[in-house]
Amino acid sequence: MSREIRLASRPEGLPTAANFALAQAELKELQDRQVLVRNSFMSVDPYMRGRKNEGPSYVAPFEIGKPLEGGAVGEVVESRANEFKPGDVVVSNYGWRECLVASPEELHSVSREVESFSVYLGALGMTGLTAWAGLNLVEVKAGDVIYISGAAGAVGNVAGQIAKLRGCRVIGSAGTMEKVAWLKGELGFDYAFNYKVGSILEHLRLAAPDGIDVYFDNVGGDSLEAALTALRVRGRIIACGGISGYNEVYLRPGPPNLFNMTTKRLTMKGLIVGDWLDRRGEFESEVGGYFQAGKLKNKETVVDGIDNAVSAFLGLFSGSNVGKMVVKLA
Ligand code: NDP
Repeated sequence: MSREIRLASRPEGLPTAANFALAQAELKELQDRQVLVRNSFMSVDPYMRGRKNEGPSYVAPFEIGKPLEGGAVGEVVESRANEFKPGDVVVSNYGWRECLVASPEELHSVSREVESFSVYLGALGMTGLTAWAGLNLVEVKAGDVIYISGAAGAVGNVAGQIAKLRGCRVIGSAGTMEKVAWLKGELGFDYAFNYKVGSILEHLRLAAPDGIDVYFDNVGGDSLEAALTALRVRGRIIACGGISGYNEVYLRPGPPNLFNMTTKRLTMKGLIVGDWLDRRGEFESEVGGYFQAGKLKNKETVVDGIDNAVSAFLGLFSGSNVGKMVVKLA
């Protein structure tokens, strides 16, 4: 038997525990070309909020009564496929469950030589790849002044660390003074501020009196509006996420100062990490290299047990994570 979390109902606005159900699933005997994996960690991510809505998006919606999906890393327990043997460490998209049965094509092999396998869900996983892809998308280079919202989260903190390694001046915003202190103290951000205190635009004016070159948008809303004003001529925006609006029942209108796109000849590029999977090798060698050399930290918030997976997910919307939010399953 394996425990799993299923979607019980579609949320209206902010999800609640009642939208989820913890259930037991029976693991059937392995067939040829199947692999049994015990998950060590699963990921909770803001994009999973969108998959709980009905209707088409860039990924299919979760189905009511079915287990949720998402990133997970675990160890092979039993294998009837030549590609894998017991003890191998693999990443899959079968999170939200303790054990899974998959075909070899659905598993991505990773090294066991790393301190905690959870790094493959964070800095060396999907969120790290998102950070790296975003910076490449608008060709962030030495000397750029970059503002990152959601900077203390999984994508934001890695984006900031890589941007520092590339020689940028890095500004970040986050929702508590503790997060701000961490960004400045441990990660070496040049400037960080609490977006809940004062005006975001005033913070940006203090941080970069001559304006910013790049905005890495994880949040949308007020942060995007302030960044549009703070950007210099020919500035670039990485449209990565808009968590400030994910739980809105009625979509809010876009920023009133969008005309800055025209007057300043700005570029805004949308990012979907799935488009970058063919460059995963390049990412692993660059960012994995920084990690191995101790130049890049994998900060995470670990919640224990599948029973707490739903509260870990909900915590993303109240900022209860610093770095990557993961759930330890074994
Ligand atoms: P995070 O680890 O950043 O977790 C979410 C964080 O968002 C919280 O910790 C909280 O931090 C902040 N937050 C929550 N609500 C609000 C709000 N109303 N306004 C401002 N900040 C808020 O998540 P990820 O790093 O995994 O994801 C960051 C963004 O990137 C998300 O928008 C996500 O959807 C997007 N994303 C996009 C991908 C793509 O392919 N385009 C891939 C992966 C992620 P705080 O305390 O600072 O408020």
